[in-house]
Amino acid sequence: MTLENHRPFIEDLYRELHASPELSNREHRTAARMAELLREAGFEVHEGVGESTGVVGVLRRGEGPTVLLRADMDGLPVTEVEQVPYRSTATDVFDGQSIGVMHACGHDTHMAALQGALRILVDQDDWSGTVLAVFQPAEETMDGALGMQAALRERFPEGIDVALGQHVMPGAAGEVRSAAGPVMAASDHLIVTVHGRGGHGSQPEKTIDPIVLAATMVVRLQTIVSREVAPSDRAVVTVGTFHAGTKQNIIPDSARFEINTRTFEEPVRRRILTAIERIVQGECHVAGAPPATITRGDIAPLTINDEAAAARVGEAFDAAFGDRHDVQQPLLGSEDFSYLADAWGAPYVYWMYGGFDPEIVAAARERGTFDVDVPSNHSPDFIPVLQPTLDTATTAMVTAARAFLA
Ligand SMILES: [Zn+2]
Ligand SMILES: [Zn+2]
Repeated sequence: MTLENHRPFIEDLYRELHASPELSNREHRTAARMAELLREAGFEVHEGVGESTGVVGVLRRGEGPTVLLRADMDGLPVTEVEQVPYRSTATDVFDGQSIGVMHACGHDTHMAALQGALRILVDQDDWSGTVLAVFQPAEETMDGALGMQAALRERFPEGIDVALGQHVMPGAAGEVRSAAGPVMAASDHLIVTVHGRGGHGSQPEKTIDPIVLAATMVVRLQTIVSREVAPSDRAVVTVGTFHAGTKQNIIPDSARFEINTRTFEEPVRRRILTAIERIVQGECHVAGAPPATITRGDIAPLTINDEAAAARVGEAFDAAFGDRHDVQQPLLGSEDFSYLADAWGAPYVYWMYGGFDPEIVAAARERGTFDVDVPSNHSPDFIPVLQPTLDTATTAMVTAARAFLA
């Protein structure tokens, strides 16, 4: 293992990336930098892979399995707090507004660790096979991996044996968590427009009030998880926006709200989506209103680790990390990583590593204040400690790759 030799490179690269984040599908500088570093390390480089800024590096070393290693490249429209000297002061226009940009989901740690892992793999001469290093755009908007699928199939028709990916989480730096089966939830986004009949606030009898109707729907939607989903199945139905009306004495003619769902199994997901449709249209019928319009927004797939491949990675992590490797419980967050493996119908394994001061995390867990004291992904103070976060992420990537390339 030559982690020590590459540590300064990995740390410098991390600080550089952290200071210069770019928004989803705008990762032009980042992608060019990833390509440059791949070339330096001796990889064959493919740029502009897919519909956006995707970069793929290939290292062929004789017979053996093909392993896809993935890092996502996008930052978020978040203004970073002042905490570290390599703080991001980048800004961009988002939704028509100038806003700070930050690697608030830690994708900079994924890229730095993957570039480090690739250099370590280049140094090691006791493996054979092919490494496909994928630097993926637009994870946050859930269209990056999907946008690379067709191009990946076209450029690499021979396929892959396994895809490997990782994410930094609000746990203790040095810890790694993995599991077989479901690790991240599926997410659906629905936009509901309720059509009523507008009129004067003093004459409700002449109207169909879409606010009362939509409010009834929102309340009734809460019964899906509590009354229609088994307590042993985890699911979330959240109404995240609600818009209607312009003035207190006007009954508007429509109302609009958006729903986000999280599920871990396809039957549960289908059941929830069916229940949403039934409740929304049923309430319209009850109110004598025309059917509501329901349109689909973003969809994120389930992330379900392959049993055999995850067992192989888990054993390798046990050997590398000992009791710093633990079981990952399914998270209600979502990921588009599985779409990359789906390009060829290949198995995949996705795991998590912690990024925060172990003493602070342990004390917070002790006090029961973990959710308050440890920053969560997407918050302006989600700034992982440099070490042992980067050592752990780099080692995890090399270890998982070598579990297949050996
Ligand atoms: Zn994120
Ligand atoms: Zn992320």
